[in-house]
Amino acid sequence: MGIDIALGTGIGIFFFLGVIGYNVFPLGLVGIGAFIIWKMVIQKQGLNTAGRGIQISDTSVDFEDIGGQSAAKKELKEALDFLLYSERMKELGIRPLKGILLSGPPGTGKTLLAKAAARYTNSAFIAISGSEFVEMYAGVGAERVRKLFRRAKDLARKEKKSSSIIFIDEIDILGAKRGSNVSHHEYDQTLNQLLVEMDGLGIEQDIQILVLAATNRSEALDQALLRPGRFDRQVKVDLPDKEGRLAILNIHTRNKPLAKDVDLGKIAQETFSFSGAHLESVSNEAAVFALRDDAQKIEMRHFREAVEKVLLGEKLDRKPTEEELQRVAVHESGHALLAESVHPHSVSQISIRSRGNALGYVRHYPKDDLYLYTQGMIEEQIMIALAGALAEEAILGVRSTGSAGDYEQSLRLVEKMIASGMSELGIVDVNKLSADQRVKVTHDILNTLEARTREIITQGKAVLRKVADVLQVEESICGEKLRSYLNTVA
Ligand code: ATP
Repeated sequence: MGIDIALGTGIGIFFFLGVIGYNVFPLGLVGIGAFIIWKMVIQKQGLNTAGRGIQISDTSVDFEDIGGQSAAKKELKEALDFLLYSERMKELGIRPLKGILLSGPPGTGKTLLAKAAARYTNSAFIAISGSEFVEMYAGVGAERVRKLFRRAKDLARKEKKSSSIIFIDEIDILGAKRGSNVSHHEYDQTLNQLLVEMDGLGIEQDIQILVLAATNRSEALDQALLRPGRFDRQVKVDLPDKEGRLAILNIHTRNKPLAKDVDLGKIAQETFSFSGAHLESVSNEAAVFALRDDAQKIEMRHFREAVEKVLLGEKLDRKPTEEELQRVAVHESGHALLAESVHPHSVSQISIRSRGNALGYVRHYPKDDLYLYTQGMIEEQIMIALAGALAEEAILGVRSTGSAGDYEQSLRLVEKMIASGMSELGIVDVNKLSADQRVKVTHDILNTLEARTREIITQGKAVLRKVADVLQVEESICGEKLRSYLNTVA
């Protein structure tokens, strides 16, 4: 930007001097000369950095070190057999496999899979991130691609291996649909160069090269990349299911001393939607909490604390006033009471410790991976969300701003109900509803559910008070303790 302004100002002065009668010819020559030299210097600088970002990584990761992902591992191994048995492929005239695309959410183990692939096939391994190709200097990205392929071959020769795996992380940065980066054509040149290099890979070469690429956004990729002969194998790497989470926890705790009370199965159950990276972090944070406690072994409470930290962020030092604490305790007790009455045994913890943006929270045991919700399930979720404000009203007389997030959640759920034909309007095109219709139907649904929730809260006032009092003292109560109060307090 600064250069653009300087250039514009220079040209302006040049013409001004010309208009007022100066001989600007020598000045013009000097200017053009300076511009050419400047261009050459930055081009050279760019080319000098063409090898930047290429990492030669260790290949000590084994498929055994990757928890869960059994489908991805199986598919990947099948594809890798092309490389392992390339002689046989050659005899049969099979086209070599040049690229495999690993797609899935962040932290699910795509990099680990690429490293394990290198070990499985006894290949050299070289890695780079798509962001390393983003350069302002024309031609540098393309040069970096050429250098990457050269380095991959050189490395294999140096390590006396017959194949090399190139891993490109975040390929969507470099392989986005051509023309989608409006600012300059540098990305397109880089992508073209990658396609040229991949087209040049053949089974007859002394060093076989396989490109593994990872992305979180496969839909954004240029179709040319996905054509046969390029990345024609796609391996989905999804978030782990419960069994996968347990396997990952087992891997990341195998060198850690665990106390007898640690039940990794339970942690796996409570960490629905966590990625492998989250679970690694949970295992590490649990050990850090044990260290802070000066404990010899990592206990279940350390894991619980770690899950909360990974889920909600670090505990905040902000100190709410006594009055605020009481309100938060009542509010959270309201949510928990409702949750237990519509789904007995569903609360795993209530806490009034501030974390991230939350002043308090109720954690539920996640049910098994659900993709469909019935009307009853959505209504129950809305009632649980409304219960915080209604508990405040029942015990403290008035509501507070602490319920804004709950209302937002309830409104989103009501929208879902309307769109799914669960409202009194029946099956409707939501885009054609008038604002008045929307307001009325939303109001009707929320009023009915609020009345049902209020009834449960009113009946449970005594237990609400008890739980809120204990929470104020203990900050956090586990689900079992909550249920014991529900059973004993009338
Ligand atoms: P990104 O898309 O953000 O690049 P990624 O899918 O490549 O992420 P990795 O870099 O492979 O994820 O994983 C990050 C870390 O998370 C790993 O170093 C490992 O500690 C842990 N991890 C992720 N998935 C698994 C798994 N399936 N088994 C064991 N550890 C895992």
